[in-house]
Amino acid sequence: MTWTCPGCDRPLTGVAVCRCGLDVQLLVELSSVADGQFNQALAAWKSGDAARALEHLEANAALVIADVDARVLQAYALAERGRWEEVGDLVSLIEGLDPERIELVALRNGFLEVNRQTEEKS
Ligand SMILES: [Zn+2]
Repeated sequence: MTWTCPGCDRPLTGVAVCRCGLDVQLLVELSSVADGQFNQALAAWKSGDAARALEHLEANAALVIADVDARVLQAYALAERGRWEEVGDLVSLIEGLDPERIELVALRNGFLEVNRQTEEKS
């Protein structure tokens, strides 16, 4: 995701002091750790390890909950693990962040499908 300076909204470029003069060193470090966690999650997900992907995505979420790409991947990984209640929570969160996000349809449908099956069983 793109991190921006809280002072002037310019994208962070990795330098410790923004062009507006604000010290953004801490944000630069945070964004680097959060992006690192996301990249490790993506690598784990691609290798088929949803549990390890989730660990990295939870670490990422603790730093930056508003990363839509990370939350979409987290929803998929939770779905893979059958944790549908948490998928539902994330779908609501993603809708709030980016209602146009294309994956929402698939996630919502998957969620509804599981709810329907659960209802049928009881
Ligand atoms: Zn700035």
